[in-house]
Amino acid sequence: MTAINFVIIGYGGMGSYHKKELMPENYINVIGVYDISQTAQDKARETGLKVYDSLDLVLSDDDVEAVLIATPNDSHKAIAIAALRAGKQVICEKPVAMNVLELDEILAVAKATGNVFMVHQNRRWDPDFLVIRDLYQTGKIGELFQIESRVHGANGIPGDWREQAKHGGGMLLDWGVHLIDQLLWLIDSPVKHMAADFSYILGNEVDDGFILYLTFENGIKAIIEVGTSNYSKLPRWYVKGLDGAAKIEDWDLSGEIVVATNKEGVVAPTPIKAGVGLTKTMAPPSEEATVTSDVTPVLPDFVSFYQNFYEVVREDAQPIIKHEEVRKVLQLIDDVFVLVGERK
Ligand code: NAD
Repeated sequence: MTAINFVIIGYGGMGSYHKKELMPENYINVIGVYDISQTAQDKARETGLKVYDSLDLVLSDDDVEAVLIATPNDSHKAIAIAALRAGKQVICEKPVAMNVLELDEILAVAKATGNVFMVHQNRRWDPDFLVIRDLYQTGKIGELFQIESRVHGANGIPGDWREQAKHGGGMLLDWGVHLIDQLLWLIDSPVKHMAADFSYILGNEVDDGFILYLTFENGIKAIIEVGTSNYSKLPRWYVKGLDGAAKIEDWDLSGEIVVATNKEGVVAPTPIKAGVGLTKTMAPPSEEATVTSDVTPVLPDFVSFYQNFYEVVREDAQPIIKHEEVRKVLQLIDDVFVLVGERK
């Protein structure tokens, strides 16, 4: 087994994280880095990596089999096309491109050259998402009819290219890509209806958050929300099924899964005082009506991203992240920009 020789293009936050945390040495051999910033170049040299002086030098080096693109979003297309044309296999960070038109240009070159082009939709492996996927697939809380997926922070948009429209900044193109990818990958049904709104609380030229409502043809409704001015967070996930509900607070999987039991034999709830009134509707269910448990991790039943990439390149395996899936996500994002009036 010979690891694939890689060069990382863009050795900032995510590019260096790939090298440090994600790339398994048995599959991937990082031989160098190309980055336009002196700081990033110094960081790469300190790690013992070769630093290339230009993209052309990377692409003309026969030792380089593949590149990872981890530069700002607006530069993905040009780098990806140049790398594919130079005969390199490519992993590209998300969002794969600024819009579907750009993506189609990349995919046409990937098809023409026959080289592998895979997008790093890594949050399909997130433990919290895997729990939701398990609930969806096993029906442990009955058929799901509402899925709420949120990420909330209070630090605003990280202050660099992510604040600028020309670089593909904003939260829809940042976190939105992950959260939309998770749901479109999970729910095997087309989106029938959507509504959306952006927030500009911090006065940036790009969205500092958004809310997206999706209704799927199979009846499932989803809310996807990203906020960067949320000093108190809502749970990462809240999902409702016909026989229960689940709440996952954060990436540590704190939360609860509540399952309705023995629906027929359950005693009706007794009215409780609520504020200055009385309610039976909002009274907690009687003790026998539900069982509450902690959220337990679900082990992934598929190979890791890099193992899959290796197998696609070396053994002609099927990619886990498929072009049509990535395109569907970007098309939906394009549609949201039009819907909120940010694009024609
Ligand atoms: P960053 O600003 O930390 O790093 C980007 C690096 O690219 C910088 O070092 C910069 O100097 C370099 N660069 C810019 N233009 C370049 C060019 N033309 N050629 C070579 N180098 C260039 O940004 P980041 O947070 O690392 O994000 C990079 C990409 O990774 C983005 O597309 C982002 O959406 C993605 N990302 C993905 C995840 C994930 O979980 N999948 C997480 C964070 C970022």
